[in-house]
Amino acid sequence: MTDTSTTPQVATDQRETAPGFGAAQVLLKPRKARPFYGRHPWVLDTAIDRIVGQVDDGDIVELIADKQNFVARGILNRQSRIQVRLYTWDSAESLDEAFWRRRLEAAIRLRDVLGYNVFEGACRLVYSEADGLSGMIVDRYAEHLVVQVNALAIAVRLDQIVPLLVELTGAKSVSLRSEKGFVKAEGIKQQQGLFCGELPEGPIFISEHGLRFGVDLVAGQKTGFYLDQRENRREAARYMHGRRVLDLFCYSGGFSLAAAVLGQAREVVGIDSSERAIALACANAEINGVANVQFDVHDCFEALNTLRDKGERFGAIVLDPPKFTRSRQSVDEALRAYHRINRQAVDLLEPDGILVTCSCSGNVSRDDFLFMLSGVAQKTGRDIQVLQQRGAAPDHPVSATCLENEYLKCFICRVA
Ligand code: SAH
Repeated sequence: MTDTSTTPQVATDQRETAPGFGAAQVLLKPRKARPFYGRHPWVLDTAIDRIVGQVDDGDIVELIADKQNFVARGILNRQSRIQVRLYTWDSAESLDEAFWRRRLEAAIRLRDVLGYNVFEGACRLVYSEADGLSGMIVDRYAEHLVVQVNALAIAVRLDQIVPLLVELTGAKSVSLRSEKGFVKAEGIKQQQGLFCGELPEGPIFISEHGLRFGVDLVAGQKTGFYLDQRENRREAARYMHGRRVLDLFCYSGGFSLAAAVLGQAREVVGIDSSERAIALACANAEINGVANVQFDVHDCFEALNTLRDKGERFGAIVLDPPKFTRSRQSVDEALRAYHRINRQAVDLLEPDGILVTCSCSGNVSRDDFLFMLSGVAQKTGRDIQVLQQRGAAPDHPVSATCLENEYLKCFICRVA
């Protein structure tokens, strides 16, 4: 069990017994219950009055309002600001193996309905709160799974959950990943590498829109591939016919290859600062027999200046930078950075060019992002027509009761 010796922010009162329920209880402060009756799954330390009963981090607790009313059942982690993650609002439902099985089955059923859960394909099988499984992401790459463990609640139950995943998917291997931010916030161990099964040497090959991509499950970014951009890659390609395309922050070439093959672009230049990503992108161009794409290792912020100095012009530009902000405090700074690169991209666009501009910063809202584009239009004197306002693919659903898991914006625009 995890070390709980760090001072809990909420005192545990072990003298009181938990009337009626059995499991330890987390009592809410007066007037703090509303979000949880509203099915928001994160109980922050500030909402908690006290904990009744003896309980370790990672154990199941009941959330109680007004001294006696059951609100929900969840899992405790006093080391995190999210002290309880809620998993069920049904007092009769316990968080046992059958529960995890039901939730995983429901998540997989959705991907079946979407037509995403196909043999050679890749998709997000489980997306955390949006699938009622707070703190857990599962991506499937052909016959292999990658589980991103973002909460202690999940970390201490891997031996229970992973075998269920294997049973339900027939996966040949399960690898683990965890993001640094969550490791720190949740007080869990960094999880990286093969958890069970066998993983062949070298990349796993997946297909997306008829294109083949090699995915590095061990050392690749995130869980190996940016699955969230799947539909955006295809949709953006529709506007690329005959154009010279610049794909900035191209990673393993997803937008570039879609532009070249699906979109019949004339020529594509893809740039990313990661050598590993560019090596994968080159290999991906080769296995798809694409010759009119060139990939370069470069800092994209510098590349924007260099391309301007050389007088280069493009008919379409894709901008898909990494997150610019992790906190609400730095949203303005992030918006200024978005403004700068979008403005530079617009300056490189031919008249009537296409700008595909993305932001994966969850703290930057759609409205903020649109407003930023309006500033770019003013400063450059070019009309920007937003043709499509898109988000992540539907295997990354947004929970209506946990809007925090919406993050991706992808706007396809015409720039006069
Ligand atoms: N468009 C890609 C995903 C991009 S993710 C796809 O569809 O797969 C963001 C990418 O930005 C990562 O590949 C990362 O290596 C790259 N990156 C981060 N900082 C960079 C910088 N300063 N210059 C160039 N690339 C950068």
